[in-house]
Amino acid sequence: MPVGGLIPRAADDAADVIVRNAKIHTGDSSRPHAGALAIRDGRVAVVGDDADIAPFVGPATTVVDALGRRVVPGLNDAHLHVIRGGLNYVLELRWDGVTSLRQGLAMLREQAARTPKGQWVRVVGGWSAEQFAERRLPTPSEMNAAAPDTPVFVLHLYQTAILNRAALQAVGYTRDTPEPKGGQIVRGRGGEPTGMLLAAPSALVLYSTLAKAPTLGDEDKKTSTRHFLRELNRFGLTSAIDAAGGFQNFPDNYSVVTELAQEGLLSLRIAYHLFPQTPGQELDDLARWIEMVRPEDGDEWLRLNGAGENLIWAAADFENFAEPRPELGRHYEAEFEKAVRLLMEHGWGFRLHATYDETIRRDLAVFEKLAAEGLFPGGNRWLFDHAETVSRDSLDRVAALGGAMSVQNRMSFQGEAFTRRYGLGAAAEAPPVRAMLERGLTVGAGSDATRVSTYNPWVALHWLVTGRTLGGAVLRPPQNRVDRETALAMYTKAGAALTGEEEVKGILRPGFLGDLAILSDDYFTVPEQDIPHIESVLTVVGGRIVHAAAEYEGLDEELPAISPSWSPVAQFGGYRSSPRSGLPGVRQAELLGQAIAESEEHLLWRARRGLAPDASRTFFDPCFSP
Ligand SMILES: [Zn+2]
Repeated sequence: MPVGGLIPRAADDAADVIVRNAKIHTGDSSRPHAGALAIRDGRVAVVGDDADIAPFVGPATTVVDALGRRVVPGLNDAHLHVIRGGLNYVLELRWDGVTSLRQGLAMLREQAARTPKGQWVRVVGGWSAEQFAERRLPTPSEMNAAAPDTPVFVLHLYQTAILNRAALQAVGYTRDTPEPKGGQIVRGRGGEPTGMLLAAPSALVLYSTLAKAPTLGDEDKKTSTRHFLRELNRFGLTSAIDAAGGFQNFPDNYSVVTELAQEGLLSLRIAYHLFPQTPGQELDDLARWIEMVRPEDGDEWLRLNGAGENLIWAAADFENFAEPRPELGRHYEAEFEKAVRLLMEHGWGFRLHATYDETIRRDLAVFEKLAAEGLFPGGNRWLFDHAETVSRDSLDRVAALGGAMSVQNRMSFQGEAFTRRYGLGAAAEAPPVRAMLERGLTVGAGSDATRVSTYNPWVALHWLVTGRTLGGAVLRPPQNRVDRETALAMYTKAGAALTGEEEVKGILRPGFLGDLAILSDDYFTVPEQDIPHIESVLTVVGGRIVHAAAEYEGLDEELPAISPSWSPVAQFGGYRSSPRSGLPGVRQAELLGQAIAESEEHLLWRARRGLAPDASRTFFDPCFSP
C-alpha cells in the first residue's frame, strides 16, 4: 500500500503494524476516536492521528492504509463452541446465510456428487427455515432426490434432524429400533423411519445420531481448526470464550487447540471451559480436573476460564422452543450444590447454561444457600448463559451474588417458534437485555454457534440492535434494544471482563492487545438491515494479520490447503454472503419470484403455453422431481 508523506526510518521503537487513515472506534472512553494506531510486540503502542504514528514507521513496519474505513477492537464471542466447531468444520456444508431452500438443496446435491463412498454430507445448524424464501425445511424425499446414495444429515436448530435414505441405512435405524429417551424417530404407517428425528425435548437423539458419522484424522483436525478460526477472523472475531459441550471431552478433544497454541498457530484467542460428559459422574470429573489444572492456566492465546456450561446433567434445561419447557427433576439441587461447592471452594469460576427463569430461580436458591457460608460472591467469576426468560427479580439476585450474564441471538433463529408457544409479550423480553444492563451486570454477547446459530457476529449484533429474527419478525421493542455502541461493547469489552482480561483486551488503548478489524462498511452508519452484511477486510490479532480481503488480499498469513480435498468448505467456504438487501419484504418477494421462475413446474407451465420452448435446458428441482 503506497503511503504518501511518511518517510520510513530505522528506529528501535519502530512499530510492527500501523493502521492509518482510519475511523477508529477505540471503545476507550478516555479517547473514543482516533485516526491511526501502531502495534509493537503484539500490543497497541500508540493511538492517535497520522502525525502521531509517523515516527514509528520503520523499514520492517507493515503500514496499512485503512482508506477511511471504520476500525473496531477485535470482536469476542462470549459463547461459541469454537473447539468442537473447529474439529468438524471442513466436514460440514454450511447453510449459514443461504437465502433459499432451493439453493441449499442445490449445494447439497453438488456436494453429494463429490463426496467419496463412506463419507457423509452434513449440514449441522447455523441456519433456520425462516431465513429461506420458502420458509420451510427440506423433506427426506427431496434429500433422497438430491443424494440418492450418499448419507445426508441435516440438523435444524435443537429441534429436528432430517436424514435421507442412505443416512438411515448408515446409522441402522429400522422399524425395530426402539424409541430413544427424550427423542422421537418419526415413522411411516408401516413403522419404518421416515428420516425425521425430533428432539422431544432432548437433542441427544440428534447428536448421538450425528456422532455415528466419520470424523477427521488428527492432522486434518488441526487444519480444519485453523480454517475455522480464519473463517471467524473473516468477520473481525479475534477472541472467543468456548462453552465446551456434549461430546467435547477434556483433555482428549482439547489437544488440537493445545498443540496449535504451542506451535503459535492459533489465529483466535480462546478461553475455554470444562464440561462433565457423563450423567452420574460429574462430581468425579470435576474433582479430577481440579487436581489437573487451574483457571487462568495458559496464556493470552489459550487459557482455562472455569467449568461449565453444564455442571451436572440433571440441572440442564433444553432450549427447544418447539416443545414445552422441560420439567427438571425434583431433586437435582443436592448434586448441583455439591458441584458448585467443590468449584467455589477450589477457586474455580463457572458458566451455567440456563434457558428458563424456573431453572435460574432454583439455581439461585442453591447459590444463596452457599452465600450464607461465604462462598458467594467468593471472588470467582461466574455467569448464567442464555437466560431467555429470566425475571427481573432473578437478575437482582444475580447482581447480589456477584454474577454476570451472557446472551446469544438464539432468538434470531428460534424467535418464531418461541412466539408461537409463549406469545409476543414474552418474546419482547427474551432475553431482557436492557434490564440486565440497567442493573450494572456485565453482559457478554455471543452466538452459541455452531449448531443452532451461525457464528457470524454481525447477525448477532443486528439482533441486539434491531430485535429482529432472521425471518424479519420484530420481537424486542425499542425499550429492550441496545444502541450500536453498547452492542459492540457487549461483543468486545464485556467478553474480556468475563475472562478477567478487561485490563488487556476489549478496547484499543496503549498497552492493550493489538487485536482489531477494519470493516467493509461502517457499522455505526450503515442502515440497520445491512449490519449482517458487514465483514472484516483486515483482521489483526496480536499484531499478526490473520485475515485480509479487498485491497489487502494476500497480506494475511498463509494456511495449508483444506484436507480432505472434497471438503464442502473447499468448494463453498463457510458463511454465504448475499448481496445487500433493501427492505426485507422486497428481498423476500424477489427471492420467491426467483425460486418460482426457476422451478420445474413453472417451466412446464410456460412450455404448455408455448412460452419457453427451451427443452435443452437441464435443471434440477428437488421440489418437483419424483
Ligand atoms: Zn447452552
